[in-house]
Amino acid sequence: MKQEMNDPGVKYIEEFRDKEMVLNLSGRIRDSVTGEYSFMEVCGGHTAAIHRFGIPSLLPPAIRLVSGPGCPVCVTGVDYIDKAVAYSRLDNIIICTFGDLMKVPGTGSSLEKERAGGADVRLVLSCLDALEIAEYNPGKTVIFLAIGFETTAPGSAVTILRAREKGIRNFRVLAAHKVMPPAMKALVTGESKLDGFICPGHVAAITGSMAFEFLPGDFGLACVVTGFEPTDILLSVLMLVKQVNSGKPAVEIEYSRAVTRLGNSIAQERLSRVFEPCDAAWRGLGMIPGSGLRLRRDFEEFDAEITFPLDIALREENRSCICGRILKGLNTPVDCKLFGKSCTPESPAGACMVSAEGACNVYYRYPE
Ligand code: SF4
Repeated sequence: MKQEMNDPGVKYIEEFRDKEMVLNLSGRIRDSVTGEYSFMEVCGGHTAAIHRFGIPSLLPPAIRLVSGPGCPVCVTGVDYIDKAVAYSRLDNIIICTFGDLMKVPGTGSSLEKERAGGADVRLVLSCLDALEIAEYNPGKTVIFLAIGFETTAPGSAVTILRAREKGIRNFRVLAAHKVMPPAMKALVTGESKLDGFICPGHVAAITGSMAFEFLPGDFGLACVVTGFEPTDILLSVLMLVKQVNSGKPAVEIEYSRAVTRLGNSIAQERLSRVFEPCDAAWRGLGMIPGSGLRLRRDFEEFDAEITFPLDIALREENRSCICGRILKGLNTPVDCKLFGKSCTPESPAGACMVSAEGACNVYYRYPE
């Protein structure tokens, strides 16, 4: 089946959604099951695809798919939102952000509320859009809210290099990029009980599949780097089941049309030229060593927190929200007593209900 999917003839999306192939894979998974299995996806794109395409209904009950910390908005702590809100209240500041962050509640406000109150908060589709806004507004400072994993961080790095090259001095980033492998390590050394990972396809396109090799090597966990169509996901589940059954865990690449073992060396070089690893706090997972990216000293002039230091008190998150436990795979959204009642996509009480890749948002839109 892997051969068939990588065949040059399979090149249109419809072919990755082919009903016969989907049912064939579903049957092969049922035939392969010999016990119980728990696999976690750590990419919000996978969470959304799994529920949009009804994948759980195509799997035997012995296979449990668990959502992990794969949504960048969801893992970004409430203190980051509070800082962004505080910056938006300063004079001559333009905040540029991806749309998902607008509605995320901070402890006292959100960017959406600040914008309604007159703050200059703009939606952008890329970091380069924010740089262009800075170029056209020399009398103001533009702060780009730089969140996301290895997928979006190279874009921030390239934009900062471009800002320096063009001598644009009114551009800053509020950096909270994160990297996935340390979070996966924290998960498997914590309370989560897993047999393997549906590894993130977009992250792996940058890092290469080698970034996950410690998981089978050190923890005996099955790993398959996976694409985002129904046949991708089902084929990966089949590959994971076979790895577990054989007792020979490894990192396999199902998403071979986008991912190699070594990844994108150009993106990796830009990223490490501008950013360096640092410890970072993840919602639900706490402080994880080496899981964040901060600007290298040579690029500090672009760091909003260094050039405009803030003095804001850390406050507690909404205690009724169980996003933290959901991100660790210990609960599902329907376990939350606010789910679908006082917490909906229109009126989110927590970060996991905001983004289209957040587990609560996905479960709300695609009820089982
Ligand atoms: S349903 Fe809302 S309050 Fe509950 S965990 Fe999800 S985001 Fe948090």
